[in-house]
Amino acid sequence: MENKKELSGWLNALNLDHPLVIAGPCSAETEEQVLRIAHELKDTDVNYYRAGIWKPRTRPGNFEGVGALGLKWLQKVKAETGLKTATEVANRAHVELALEHDIDLLWIGARSTVSPFIVQEIADALNGTDKIVLVKNPVNPDLALWLGAVERLATAGIKNLGVIHRGFSSYEKTKYRNTPEWQMAIELQTKFPDLPMINDPSHITGNRDLIFDVSQTALDLNFDGLMIESHHDPDNAWSDAAQQLTPTSLIQIMKDLKIRKESTPEADYNDQLQNLRAQIDVMDNQLLETLGKRLKVAEGIGLIKKQKNVAVLQSKRWNEILGKMVLEGEQYNLSEEFILKLFKAIHQESINHQEKILNN
Ligand code: PEP
Ligand code: MN
Repeated sequence: MENKKELSGWLNALNLDHPLVIAGPCSAETEEQVLRIAHELKDTDVNYYRAGIWKPRTRPGNFEGVGALGLKWLQKVKAETGLKTATEVANRAHVELALEHDIDLLWIGARSTVSPFIVQEIADALNGTDKIVLVKNPVNPDLALWLGAVERLATAGIKNLGVIHRGFSSYEKTKYRNTPEWQMAIELQTKFPDLPMINDPSHITGNRDLIFDVSQTALDLNFDGLMIESHHDPDNAWSDAAQQLTPTSLIQIMKDLKIRKESTPEADYNDQLQNLRAQIDVMDNQLLETLGKRLKVAEGIGLIKKQKNVAVLQSKRWNEILGKMVLEGEQYNLSEEFILKLFKAIHQESINHQEKILNN
């Protein structure tokens, strides 16, 4: 992987020639497991070795982490492989233990970021630390809550800060475990271009087959790094089995990811172009998703029309929609001609589906 842009702050000081990579198992399970994966990941582009020691579980009864004992294993990882270490902290006791064991990078998990009380407790415990502290997005898509957590840490004198984008939970089932809502990451980057932003494709996808594509989108959108879960025997991992990659697959993915160069003016242009195109791709997908949802609603209307034996085409309602959309379109600099074409096409598709329903 090659460098893509000047990185800021602590990230700059690392002087990497590729995006930052944090990798390792979802959870530390045994000493052998932690050391085995670390040895397979040393001498690669991996910079920080992650392992969850305390695991936030949605329901009780699942594996909740090995606890402080695992910090000793991480110390062994550093001594044996030279990899720096990373783990999640969720309260004052975790912070104190992690600092005692000289963990290099601490992150606040998505379930903690939602709670200002917890974030404040962690910030107070970390006061003035020079360790790197990364804040995962809250489970709900709330940019202010995410930034609020970063602010609490900054106010506690923590300088080496960054964020991790791990997607957002949604009631609707999608192909992702947590929907990326890329536009939130784009907004964050636009507002705070110097704040290092890491993508976590493992928790976004929940599925190892989708990790490459999400990682590539993140790099195209100028993310500064990736956090990816890796396990020597993913299917038998004690947590997040479906999303973990073997070290071999992870190393292959790191090789295959395209990182943009910035050394020539032409590359600069390509950089910008690729970033803008990635933004367009995200928006096009959103458009399709919205159109799909709209069609589902139109089909629902078709069903109730069928029950009441009402005609599919309701011209009065349709003309009202068109008039309103033409006016609203003006606000976005969209011409009347375009709006009429666009909505006629959308309407036609709905009518076709409703007719099918009516005639079935
Ligand atoms: C994790 O990184 O293993 C984890 C629990 O992540 P999140 O807080 O994003 O769910
Ligand atoms: Mn996990």
